[in-house]
Amino acid sequence: MDWSPAVETLVRELSRLPGVGRRSASRLAHHLLRCPEEQARALALSIQESRDKVRPCQCCGNYAEAELCPLCRDPRRDHGIVLVVEKPSDISAFESTGRYRGVYHVLGALLSPLDGIGPDRLNLAALRSRMEGGAVREVVLATPASTEGDATALYIQRFIPSGTSLTRLARGLPVGGELEYSDSLTVLRAYEGRIPA
Ligand SMILES: [Zn+2]
Repeated sequence: MDWSPAVETLVRELSRLPGVGRRSASRLAHHLLRCPEEQARALALSIQESRDKVRPCQCCGNYAEAELCPLCRDPRRDHGIVLVVEKPSDISAFESTGRYRGVYHVLGALLSPLDGIGPDRLNLAALRSRMEGGAVREVVLATPASTEGDATALYIQRFIPSGTSLTRLARGLPVGGELEYSDSLTVLRAYEGRIPA
């Protein structure tokens, strides 16, 4: 392609985004070059700002701009129920149901010995200290129905105190299905039909 080097770089960077192939990347690049300049600059700035400001919540590992994320700071949430997910984007799936009122814990990864991902790579120390506080009544495991998800769930089971109930989502989600791509009714059913782990 005989585009200018700057356009070529833009297309290459965009095509590295998940789900964006070379064709979509060049369509997006052309759009960014033709749309009002302030719109393109606002996008660039928001990418930069989010990378500069966002860090893991000290309590749950969700995206935060302060020590705690907005969900952990919210007194209207039920801090006695902790739903354990793999990544921050999984939270959106539960929030979109509009019915879940508990809080979350983001692991950041799943156990995968074959890929060299051991317990030290997961946000488990923070989960342990949340348990020690004694205010958690129920832990809901929302790790995916996969070998890694099951291994992670088993590992977590070992350190949940006996007085805390431990449940898993009902297997309403498609096998290996990604929470973030499931519709909110499916997610809600999986939550409401949760079973003892
Ligand atoms: Zn948080």
